[in-house]
Amino acid sequence: MVKVNENYLKLKAGYLFPEISKRVNNYTQANSNSKVIKLGIGDVTEPLPKACVNAMGEALNEMGTNNGFKGYGPEQGYGWLREKISVNDFISRGCQISSEEIFVSDGSKCDSSNILDILGDDNLIAVTDPVYPVYVDTNVMTGRTGETLQNGIYQGLVYLAINEENNFQPEIPKKKVDIVYLCFPNNPTGATITKQELKKWVDYAIENKSLILFDAAYEAFIQDKNIPHSIYEIEGAKNCAIEFRSFSKNAGFTGVRCAYTVIPKNLSGQNSKGDKIDLWSLWNRRQCTKFNGVSYIVQRGAEAVYSSQGKKEVNSLIDFYMKNAEIMQKKLRSAGFKVYGGDNAPYVWIKVPDRMTSWDFFDYLLEKADVVGTPGSGFGLAGEGYFRLSAFNSRLNVNNAMERIINI
Ligand SMILES: *Cc1c(COP(=O)(O)O)cnc(C)c1O
Repeated sequence: MVKVNENYLKLKAGYLFPEISKRVNNYTQANSNSKVIKLGIGDVTEPLPKACVNAMGEALNEMGTNNGFKGYGPEQGYGWLREKISVNDFISRGCQISSEEIFVSDGSKCDSSNILDILGDDNLIAVTDPVYPVYVDTNVMTGRTGETLQNGIYQGLVYLAINEENNFQPEIPKKKVDIVYLCFPNNPTGATITKQELKKWVDYAIENKSLILFDAAYEAFIQDKNIPHSIYEIEGAKNCAIEFRSFSKNAGFTGVRCAYTVIPKNLSGQNSKGDKIDLWSLWNRRQCTKFNGVSYIVQRGAEAVYSSQGKKEVNSLIDFYMKNAEIMQKKLRSAGFKVYGGDNAPYVWIKVPDRMTSWDFFDYLLEKADVVGTPGSGFGLAGEGYFRLSAFNSRLNVNNAMERIINI
């Protein structure tokens, strides 16, 4: 009989979001007149920017003509989109990232997983705790961890706690790690990192010849002018970091699918003999072999994000969600909760009341307020005692959910 990849059997049973759905379904079946408001999964709710809709409509029509038809595009993405990205997202912030260093893809979730294809199996890997579960699970699936311990921790990974005590700033590891995943603004905590703090990581990575995998999926939500949008705002980062960006959260492309990954040309790793190998070439080879590019129509939609109308519309989407976050912070604080995040990210991260676990609080909020959130423990051991509420929802739902929580 065919053998399976046994690494998958190490994965913790009951992935977070299926477990949430199960509990919500059980609850709504037993309470058929309840109107549950979901502030759980981090998915956008507002419609696409008109600029993107129009651009995609035009591109679709173009594809239906003899002159405008296009087959396979470049695996790395069309030059015109990579150029817009380079100029608008990097050069404008003083980061010397050229269009060639940008690889357009159909999502950061897959990019942040696929990147492991070009990295050796025996690297020591560090993640923050709590963490976006994709980083951990893809390391498990590819056999880069040991078994899971009783408390859900995987052997072989280095966990960097981020919590109230350290102001949600991961501490630089005492020992050398080869790869570290950083996500700022952070999902799930909504925390940010200053240039000074990020500089410490870049210095550490250069000194230890480590690689930083920097996930900036939420950079568009940054309000504070001093917070870096890209790791390449930090001197030296081009020698030690890969950055993941996505159109999912800024332009509402979660269902359209477009993202990109930055691999600087001078970034390198080494082979077992100690020779320097450049990562750009490996990733380019990987993409050309395993990926056939993002739809032309979608790339035209992504390009429109950088038009003047697109920029305006994206800004108003961000303002809308960040106003939700502000309402949530205010109301939750007035209800006596300790609230973190929500200033530069569409997530608020609250401390659950004493003696409750994150899952206790999940059930409590569901039963008393018909509101669904995400238990912090689902993102890692150090997330226990916390709870994530997402600002991705209509104003009406946010207002109603907050009123219900206040009136428990
Ligand atoms: C939503 C999100 C992404 C974006 O993923 P896509 O596959 O591009 O939709 C990336 N990283 C984090 C942490 C996210 O929350």
